Parts: sequence; structure tokens; C-alpha cells
Amino acid sequence: MKERTVDQFDPVCGDLVTDATHTVGHLGAQFVFCSVQCKERFQSHPGLFVGCPGEKAPKQAGEEVIKQRCMRLAFPLMARKANEVEDCLQNLLGVKAVNISEDHVDITYDLLLISAEEIEEKIIACGEYLGHSIRDRLERVFVHVGEQSEISSLEVHYKKKAD
Ligand SMILES: [Zn+2]
Repeated sequence: MKERTVDQFDPVCGDLVTDATHTVGHLGAQFVFCSVQCKERFQSHPGLFVGCPGEKAPKQAGEEVIKQRCMRLAFPLMARKANEVEDCLQNLLGVKAVNISEDHVDITYDLLLISAEEIEEKIIACGEYLGHSIRDRLERVFVHVGEQSEISSLEVHYKKKAD
């Protein structure tokens, strides 16, 4: 069967999508995505990307929520491994810049597209360990909780018209 062709913008990354491989129905409309990553981001926080009549979602309004953080690793990385992990993080949607020096990962990203928690998961998937002192762990929890509440305050929540 031939792939259905479309000409629609991906509401997450803004790219033009020409085939309907990744789609989601939301509030009676059909949205298309360039990748599984964009599709999953949309499914977990549609209100960041699609608003309702009279209220634009932050992404539709052209907003970015830039975060700069320093994440601490459990062990310093040798230059070669540091480059490998940098490349891996650089390719993530929403990551603007990354620099690893010894056990510090300095990273800049757009919270509309990716969270610290997802970046940390990627670091672990690359085979590295995050700092495990109590302070490191508490800092991470603090960041995750803060980002979650920031995201939910930014999301446009579709309200049913009051009867
Ligand atoms: Zn996309």
C-alpha cells in the first residue's frame, strides 16, 4: 500500500512532513510528525504545541524555554568518551549546546522539547553514571519536580465550554 502523502508541519519541531507515517489525532484534528521522538513528545504534552481557540500554545507562539544546566557525572570522562557522549546528546531534539569536561556536562536545551530527566536517561543509555552523592541526587529530584511543574503551567489545557 502506498504511503499517504501529506504536506503538513510537524507541530513539535516545525519541519515540513510529506508522508503520514507518524500521526496522532488530537481534539478532532490529525497531526503528523517527522519522527517517533516528536510524536511521543506531542503525546505526553500536547498543550505545549497546540492551543485552543483564542489561546496559542507556547510553541505556536514561537517561544523557547531555554535551560542551562551543569549535570555531574560519577566519574570524569576521557576526551574520546566525552566526545562520544557529546555527539549523542547533541543529536537529541531540543539540545542546543553541550560541552563535557571531566565529570561536568554543561548543557543548554529547550524545555519545550526535552527535559533534564530525559537528558539524564540518555547519558545513562550511553553507558555513563550520574553523580550519586546525596547532594547530586537531591539536586536532580529538585530539577525534575521544578521542570514538571513549569511544563504543566505552560501547557494550554483544553477547557470544555461551560454549559
Ligand atoms: Zn519533528
